[in-house]
Amino acid sequence: MTERISPKAKFAPCYEFHISCSMIKLYNTLTRQKEEFKPKDPSSVGLYSCGPTVYDCAHIGNLRAFVFVDTLRRALEYSGYKVKHIMNITDIGHLSGDGDEGEDKMTKGLKREGLDVTLLGMKKLGEKYTEAFLENLKDMNILVPSQMPKASDNVDEMQELIKRLDEKGFVYRTSDGLYFDVSKFPNYGKLGNTSLEGQREGARVAVNSAKKNPADFSLWKFNDIGWDFKGYDKGFPGWHIECSAMSRKYLGQPFDIHTGGVDHIGTHHNGEIAQSEAGYGEPLANVWMHNEHLIYKAASSASGSSDEPKKMAKSAGNFITLRDVKNRGIHPLSLRYYFLQAHYRSPIEFSWDALEAAQTAYFKLLWKMNELMSSDKEDKINDLFVKNIENAIQDDFNTPRALSFVWTELRNPLSSSSLEKAVIESDKVLGLDLKVQAKELAKEQKNIPAKIRDLSAKREEARQNKDFKKADEIRAEIENAGYTIMDTDSGPLIRKDA
Ligand code: AMP
Ligand code: ZN
Repeated sequence: MTERISPKAKFAPCYEFHISCSMIKLYNTLTRQKEEFKPKDPSSVGLYSCGPTVYDCAHIGNLRAFVFVDTLRRALEYSGYKVKHIMNITDIGHLSGDGDEGEDKMTKGLKREGLDVTLLGMKKLGEKYTEAFLENLKDMNILVPSQMPKASDNVDEMQELIKRLDEKGFVYRTSDGLYFDVSKFPNYGKLGNTSLEGQREGARVAVNSAKKNPADFSLWKFNDIGWDFKGYDKGFPGWHIECSAMSRKYLGQPFDIHTGGVDHIGTHHNGEIAQSEAGYGEPLANVWMHNEHLIYKAASSASGSSDEPKKMAKSAGNFITLRDVKNRGIHPLSLRYYFLQAHYRSPIEFSWDALEAAQTAYFKLLWKMNELMSSDKEDKINDLFVKNIENAIQDDFNTPRALSFVWTELRNPLSSSSLEKAVIESDKVLGLDLKVQAKELAKEQKNIPAKIRDLSAKREEARQNKDFKKADEIRAEIENAGYTIMDTDSGPLIRKDA
């Protein structure tokens, strides 16, 4: 059993005090069970997350994956670990969603934007959408990873691993590239889920019939606009090799935790494991964590006749971006709140109504926070509150339990000590930026025109007098003027419509 940290030292990183970090339980896809987390170094964690392919704006399904990783990192830091978080930026061509046979996303992006299909064109496209991605991270209060290496800056390391695999006999050549021979690696598919769906999904050109086994995957695709590769033909690295080479370079091998969405388990992550283990004779990562999907049935989905909601994806045409969310007057942190309401290992079926309900809950929380910030004069933090949040988070990142506990405690505090300080403490993990956003909301309230505020006051009076007909009429008047009124435990909250 790991030693508990004294309450005083609890929120300072353990590596400063050389004391034990708190115990965290997490679900490891590799062992298919919840287990106690034991990093290689007792006070620091190496965390690698498959990052975005920067050929277009991310959709909110992708953002679910990045909010999960952010919560994981925050929880590790909160529990006392120093975290080195690496997220790769895929800014060079790879084929289709997961497999080798589909369309190259970067080339697709270049054509869409009328840019030259050259390495320079890819660089420009990549820079543009990396910027857009960083904006998304900022909007969602996602901590920027320690380093975000670009694939295009790490081709040498990828080539070195391919050469090594070739020397060891794992590689064969076809007319279009170099392939990894899975039959030479008996442990292939350790993570499970090795159906070929991932490879078929999104495929737009014929399957390479020269592959020896259907699960073989490309390490290098020949292409005249790509990189020189001494001893081989010019081309592009395969997608899986990117993560194998970069995670080893920045974190060593094995490192502690590797994350991605569940769509990556079958092909991408099994591919990474095969290459890295075959190349260096050591496991790639000790713990593999995967977030479930955001699924959605868009009204005009390109997926056509199917009535089933599907994984949100660009290729299925059922995607929503953060800009769409903002255009509907929804705050990006309401989206974060929405994601946190579900456990990361449960699928979420997206609906605008549910997102709007999450926005209402988020604003109610901010308004309550605002009230606490002006009324709560207690010095002593409500330890019991913090402990309960900590327990929920350290139990495989149970954010829905943590959020529900926040509400229970705010409505019915178990102790008279400071709730304000406890909520702010909990927010170190939840990342809802409560203190700053509560102040923003208070400022926004001051900018509501006097006429609307007067109407709201009159409506309150009518409600006090139980004159609900009059209260409803005033609400309609406020709404007609372009404002929405929310009744909260801390009084009415008025918001200008988008
Ligand atoms: P990509 O840019 O497609 O490689 O995706 C970036 C991250 O988002 C990966 O970890 C994916 O597994 C994850 N992801 C993609 N689509 C979804 C979705 N609909 N729901 C949740 N995560 C997703
Ligand atoms: Zn990856």
